[in-house]
Amino acid sequence: MLLLLPLMVWVASCQPAGDKDDRPLIVVTTGMIADATRAIVGEHARVEALMGPGVDPHLYKATQGDLALLRSADIIVYNGLHLEGKMQEVFDQLAKSTTVFNLSDGLDTSQFIVTSLRNDLPTYDPHIWFDVALWSKAIDQLCPQLCKAIGLDSCTESGLAYTERLHSLNQWVSDTLATIPDRNRVLITSHDAFEYFGRAYQFEVIGLQGISTAAEFGLKDITDMVNLISDRRIPAVFIESSVSEKSIRSVMQGCKSKGHDVALGGTLFSDAMGAEGTAEGTYPGMVRHNVMLLLHALQTSSTP
Ligand SMILES: [Zn+2]
Repeated sequence: MLLLLPLMVWVASCQPAGDKDDRPLIVVTTGMIADATRAIVGEHARVEALMGPGVDPHLYKATQGDLALLRSADIIVYNGLHLEGKMQEVFDQLAKSTTVFNLSDGLDTSQFIVTSLRNDLPTYDPHIWFDVALWSKAIDQLCPQLCKAIGLDSCTESGLAYTERLHSLNQWVSDTLATIPDRNRVLITSHDAFEYFGRAYQFEVIGLQGISTAAEFGLKDITDMVNLISDRRIPAVFIESSVSEKSIRSVMQGCKSKGHDVALGGTLFSDAMGAEGTAEGTYPGMVRHNVMLLLHALQTSSTP
């Protein structure tokens, strides 16, 4: 992002005067939202994402450049449910003068996973994109509203095709994962990004950290995890693209010293997508990557 910015400025300054792009500017937070937004608006608007590959949205703070971009936006789309924990105030402020869509706002709260209760008020898990059916509902709702906001009558053909693609993707995920034996349907990774995934596709999900990557993990968490993996002979653990792999490496070492050689299943995309221009740099591509990784690591029977 930092490297790209001077280039963008340079490109913009090289454009001949009078050739200004006056299409509406939509600024979104995560790559997953950018993927859907680009599919919906096509050539009708420009879309800029604040958080690139490998960026952790829980800890993300808006830079001066981001704030300038957000202020120049005609429309802003963000995930909500405190995924962008450090940016909520910025969105609340901007909502007074700009059209701001909180993607999770239109969804029925009964669909959300409650992570904690404070004074009877629930805190919800923000990682809604890993239940592909739930995410497609969010995008279904966004499409007509976003299109209206950029001056179109209804959801674009490309937006409808994208949500249709998400429906097939959801079916494919279910069908593909169905071949993993029940005893191996355990997903162990460094933070709890996959609770929705687990609920939707029947996986037990165990994260070493809490819901946010800001939460600390302790020695006891590692010991508990080592015991659990060794006792149940779980074949593989996973690391994540936007979170440090240190904790998972400690767990693997602990298991080894207990005589259970747990494999590293690979790197899952959790809160950020892969590099632009690769298959994993799209939302369907990142989901397929994760599913194939799980399939390869967990389909085999574990050592008895
Ligand atoms: Zn997360």
